[in-house]
Amino acid sequence: MAAGLLFLYGLPAMLPRNPEAWLAEVFCSVQGEGPLAGVRQVFVRFAGCHRRCRFCDTSAALLTRPKTWMLETATGRDRHETNPVAGERLVKILSALSGGPFHSIALTGGEPLLQAEFLQAALPRLRRVGWKIYLETAGDRWRELQQILPHLDYIAMDIKLPGVTGQPGSWQAHRKFLEVATASRASTFVKIVASHATVAAQLRRAARLVAAVAPLMPVILQPATPHAGVCAPTAPQLWRWQQLMLAAGLRDVRVLPQMHVAMKLR
Ligand code: SF4
Repeated sequence: MAAGLLFLYGLPAMLPRNPEAWLAEVFCSVQGEGPLAGVRQVFVRFAGCHRRCRFCDTSAALLTRPKTWMLETATGRDRHETNPVAGERLVKILSALSGGPFHSIALTGGEPLLQAEFLQAALPRLRRVGWKIYLETAGDRWRELQQILPHLDYIAMDIKLPGVTGQPGSWQAHRKFLEVATASRASTFVKIVASHATVAAQLRRAARLVAAVAPLMPVILQPATPHAGVCAPTAPQLWRWQQLMLAAGLRDVRVLPQMHVAMKLR
């Protein structure tokens, strides 16, 4: 990162020399959500998340300090590796895959931004070998986003509806996150998971929040995949809610289910 950018983003001039990461797994699959659904990616799933969404289907990633992480090898056999993993090790694994049939590296979780210091050191090295970087995030840790923003090509941010997650809303943090993301060069979209328990007023509030900052931004209304007592919305509900979001000032609202679930990939 250029010294000017360090200054711009208010970061300390010194980064830790050998930061380590706590991972859940590294594997290859197709992107299942959003405008890039279907592209082939290498997924780096970080351990730990500050949220506890009712519909979470990656419970293994909620462990903050798992002893091991799973590496899917080229032969298709998974191998356990020890946590924490050194930046050198992960960069070496991922660099060996660059130039292959993959669109990008997807940073997922858990919440990757909880390990922003590690990413700040590792991402420039991955981009130097040609990787594009795609961040999947809960969309509320905007300070951590600022730390790695220059290294991101795509940002897939959530807006969490309290009626769906079963958790308090983070409206102000989502708004600030969106403002930071849209000021960058990264291609950004918003994802909102809707279940049968979606509260229309909360969906309208989310739509207005995005419309106030970036009305042309793609917003994905994603029906929840049934899991742990969470039920998917009906087709008429999705139809009504898409209309509600368009009426709130958005221009690009797409109803898209999780594609990797349909393909029975992870
Ligand atoms: S933010 Fe994502 S990883 Fe974290 S609890 Fe919610 S669904 Fe799970």
